[in-house]
Amino acid sequence: MKKHILNYTKDELAKFISPKFRVKQLFSWIYNKKVTNFLEMNNLPKDLRQKLNDEFTILSSQIVSKQVSKDGSIKYLFKLHDGHTVEAVLLLMKPTVYNEDGSIKHLPKYTVCVSSQVGCKVGCAFCLTAKGGFVRDLSAGEIVEQILQIYIDNNIESNRKVNIVYMGMGEPLDNLENLAKAIKIFSDVEGLSISPHRQTVSTSGLSSKIDKLAKLNLGVNLAISLHAVDDKLREQLMPINKAYNIASIMEAVRRFPVNLRKKVLFEYLMIKNVNDSLDAAKKLVKLLNGIKAKVNLIYFNPYEESEFQRPSYEDMRKFQKYLLSKGIICTIRESKGLDISAACGQLREQKLQEEQQR
Ligand code: SAH
Ligand code: SF4
Repeated sequence: MKKHILNYTKDELAKFISPKFRVKQLFSWIYNKKVTNFLEMNNLPKDLRQKLNDEFTILSSQIVSKQVSKDGSIKYLFKLHDGHTVEAVLLLMKPTVYNEDGSIKHLPKYTVCVSSQVGCKVGCAFCLTAKGGFVRDLSAGEIVEQILQIYIDNNIESNRKVNIVYMGMGEPLDNLENLAKAIKIFSDVEGLSISPHRQTVSTSGLSSKIDKLAKLNLGVNLAISLHAVDDKLREQLMPINKAYNIASIMEAVRRFPVNLRKKVLFEYLMIKNVNDSLDAAKKLVKLLNGIKAKVNLIYFNPYEESEFQRPSYEDMRKFQKYLLSKGIICTIRESKGLDISAACGQLREQKLQEEQQR
């Protein structure tokens, strides 16, 4: 089988492509010009083009489904080389703004949510990805390719400031090696040049891996999927809490090097009558004491057969207001792409069901 070129950093490619500037040219072809056929890279010597073509592929997956939300976000389903599927979402944070004469005033702002694994081992009770179990890790190249394909599909230029959140399918810290490599490839200035400060790794709280990520000193932002403030409830929602309890997560967060201007993001999935009380908000404030934190409240996004319910707007606001009154930055995540079932795993599940019905 041919090797996947998106799996390699420039330094790695320099081991078998010389002189070194050829690697820069190759990176520029792929990540700037978005050329996906080696033979068209016409400033590379012909024999090198041929050799690359014989040994490598550029794209290894296919977009098999695309859902466009009313708010302009687009959810993608990718079929990997072995037939498994993963999701990624292009979130339109701010649409294009035009001047009166029709020229563009501001380009749109994007965040891309990518997957790190096919399935997930963590098994959270509210998560659709967990229902299908764990299949396999994504390679670094497969993580990179989700973004590259989305750039190509939307004509996004390589110097645009796009944010990446590792909040798609899978637990990124359970695939740390490939994740770290993808983070480096994304941030290469000769590639897509997406600074690590624009990349956020979201984890269910594998404390020991948070420490490992910290040691790698990549400069990425950290997001913790907390979702509960006492261990008993958190164990029910997230069985991983038996191995890494809340205290161990908070300790790891305190050790994590946070960029001066940044904060650690705590995601709090609000589930009706489960964790949405004011009492929980009070405990949350205590937990976050002394941590440079911001909180993002997420509406539970129901799916067929889910045992939980979406909270009311009023309960979300009450929770938020309490945190704000205690000086904690707290936002409510707009349900971007709710109409395209944006919570992770939902498009994939829909496709699998359609296939079974056929
Ligand atoms: N495994 C990592 C990253 C992927 S999950 C993590 O858990 O952080 C990304 C986010 O989607 C998590 O905060 C998760 O709790 C949330 N999520 C899972 N199922 C959801 C649902 N049904 N509705 C809303 N958010 C959900
Ligand atoms: Fe895995 Fe995250 Fe889903 Fe939990 S919420 S099962 S960690 S993907």
